[in-house]
Amino acid sequence: MKDEMDRRDFLRKAAFTALTVPVALQGGLKTAQAKDDSPEASKQGARPMKRIGIEEHWASPAASMGAEPPFDVNTVRIPLRRLGDIEQERLPLMNESGIAMQVLNAGYPRYDGQGDPNAVIATIRKINDSLAETVRKHPDRFAAFAALPMWDPKAAADELKRTATQLGFKGTLILGRTANGEYYDQQKYWVFWEQAEELGAPIYLHPGEPSPDFPGHLELKGPIWSWGVETATHALEIIGSGVFDAFPKTTLILGHLGESLPYLLGRLDEGYVMSHKPVKLKKLYSQYIKDNIVVTTSGKYKPEALICATAALGADRVLFSVDYPWVTPEAGVACFENTPLSDSDREKISHLNAERLLRL
Ligand code: MN
Repeated sequence: MKDEMDRRDFLRKAAFTALTVPVALQGGLKTAQAKDDSPEASKQGARPMKRIGIEEHWASPAASMGAEPPFDVNTVRIPLRRLGDIEQERLPLMNESGIAMQVLNAGYPRYDGQGDPNAVIATIRKINDSLAETVRKHPDRFAAFAALPMWDPKAAADELKRTATQLGFKGTLILGRTANGEYYDQQKYWVFWEQAEELGAPIYLHPGEPSPDFPGHLELKGPIWSWGVETATHALEIIGSGVFDAFPKTTLILGHLGESLPYLLGRLDEGYVMSHKPVKLKKLYSQYIKDNIVVTTSGKYKPEALICATAALGADRVLFSVDYPWVTPEAGVACFENTPLSDSDREKISHLNAERLLRL
């Protein structure tokens, strides 16, 4: 009882993480993308191909409470309700849209320097145990990415190993930088990358909040813009620090079709030639993006964007995802099925790539 009270108390104080906040502001995007949600799209979405989504959020109701999110929570009441659910809405919606499997990730507290960090690590372990229990009830429908105490690289490496070897987790989904603003390109994080490479565990770098002095208007904070540029910047910092030269077998997963990076391969290489080079990299940026990064279709997008990502990286490097519950399975499938692709590419993106990468 006291344990539960401590946990609740902690979670109330914890920062509101990107996991618990929406990528889609339901009303607005629905209107803006009405074409993608058309009945015709839904009909196409019913074509019988196995689909596996890997940016699919889950959280205990307690874990969704915290500091003020950077958007109007009144616009996302339904996703917030669905976050902790499995049986009532999630499975029926997956069935309706032909989603065979979701790789779930859990919200976790981001330690902000207050209180006892070991207590927060203990809470994260409990959340992972609870997620494992959820997966065990439907092992053919769900798999899991671990939550990790990323402010402590050694503890994060240890929990990645525990969840992979003891709970059967497939890697991790982490929410951008730490609460005190550290990126995972720093040398002290290399113990984490080394462990990820040894386990063959992909690291899903999910959007998180940029620095509070992000120089945008208030309306540009959150999924509309700030999360994407922040995540793309973080990925480029990881490349630039030489992580992928030191650990060439690691895989970084980016959502939202690569947070714009597939569009920029030429520009990155052209610019790098002119750049200062504090770390001498073995390859061009575009080559690390092709070799060490895979991207998912999470969120809503235009067909042109998926065509660009697939052409830039290859169909082996793009994975279907929905971003449930912020995007509905129906809308996620409609965006995907509205994109003209060869049957072979569609099959890779729908499920073959996820099965290979995550050993499902
Ligand atoms: Mn997401």
